[in-house]
Amino acid sequence: MAKLTIRDLNVRGKRVFLRVDYNVPLVEKDGQMVITDDTRIRETLPTLRFLIEQGGRLILTAHLGRPKGQRESSMSLRPVAGRLADLLGCPVNFADDCVGEKVESLAGELPPGGVLLLENVRYHQAEEKNDPAFAGQLARLADVYVNDAFGAAHRAHASTEGVARIVAARGGQCAAGLLMERELKFLGDELENPARPFVVILGGAKVSDKIKVIDRLLEKADTILIGGAMAYTFRLAHGEKVGKSLVEPDHTGTALAAEEKAKKLGVNFQLPTDTVIATPVDTGKVNKKGRPVFEFVDVRTTKTGIPDDAEGFSIGEETAANYARIIHGAKTILWNGPMGMFEDARFAPGTNAVAQAVAEATQKNGAKSIIGGGDSVKAINNINLGDQVTFMSTGGGASLEFLEGAVLPGVAALSDK
Ligand code: AMP
Repeated sequence: MAKLTIRDLNVRGKRVFLRVDYNVPLVEKDGQMVITDDTRIRETLPTLRFLIEQGGRLILTAHLGRPKGQRESSMSLRPVAGRLADLLGCPVNFADDCVGEKVESLAGELPPGGVLLLENVRYHQAEEKNDPAFAGQLARLADVYVNDAFGAAHRAHASTEGVARIVAARGGQCAAGLLMERELKFLGDELENPARPFVVILGGAKVSDKIKVIDRLLEKADTILIGGAMAYTFRLAHGEKVGKSLVEPDHTGTALAAEEKAKKLGVNFQLPTDTVIATPVDTGKVNKKGRPVFEFVDVRTTKTGIPDDAEGFSIGEETAANYARIIHGAKTILWNGPMGMFEDARFAPGTNAVAQAVAEATQKNGAKSIIGGGDSVKAINNINLGDQVTFMSTGGGASLEFLEGAVLPGVAALSDK
């Protein structure tokens, strides 16, 4: 069922409780916390401008980091208020808490078009517990509820779910912001009846993380291209050698079942035909988490099994070229998960070649390309192709769950059209 969006509301003079995703990276500089990447703040500007123009009184709520119910000054949203004011070109008030009488009076004093940002909602443990009393306190600030934080919509927290329920029970409206609207359109509606061929590219570390997505997309896709460490569990399931690669021996059955389903449904299900491998050497050092640090030496490509002393790190050139050819023929593309450990430049070419092919298919062939969040977005941005694909999801876990077909609590809580 389609959800109400802010385009359907009349917010003039109303207090709009707006959940945003301002979980931005910060570093300490001369005793002050400084925002190092304000993308998430910029992304909310269209929603904010729209609501300001409509004369709404905006009360913004967000979380930052994991303060676990404590007031952690390094996780304060105060620097965000400053940056937001600069970007919007209008004053942004800041409340040093998110509930209570003081906050209620600040919200009450807001003029139409005024903006108030509340302090980190996770300073209260009750937020993540979706405590009804806390949600009730937040709801005292709201005539209308708007959620534009897709990345937090898979969590049933007070600010993402509880408040919306209370507002709706009072007969108030709960709507998606413009960012959320785009997420629902591209990860949802657009994939329901995709233009064909529909090519799905799935990578990343684990089959177990992606199996629900694979299972669901097998029913919709024409072709599924597998990459990343996930491919080695499929190889193991076929009795091939995987050396020291990241595999899930408990999930070989899952892998075989997916291949079987693909065969039954006539889906072209492809695994890599070559692999970039390297030999891990223990440096004797440990990382911050106390785990041993390895160096990877003797980087090479294999078309057969992975030797006992080696580990697979990416799809090889042959696979990348084959996948690129298939991607060039697609009309709809969905990509989730890198083709290898792309954070290391030696293992990035396979992922980069796929990113390049997705961008070309979009620009030259008019394919619709949807990047399903997390590391694939990072990979595309690493080579500056972000503006050459149709849509990049802002969610990580939320995108994955949505693609699995799960009902996200933060979406379910919005009013139906
Ligand atoms: P995911 O969150 O499941 O999409 O996985 C992304 C992570 O998987 C990235 O940090 C990659 O570095 C990692 N990854 C992908 N392929 C491999 C591989 N062959 N070996 C080790 N890590 C990998």
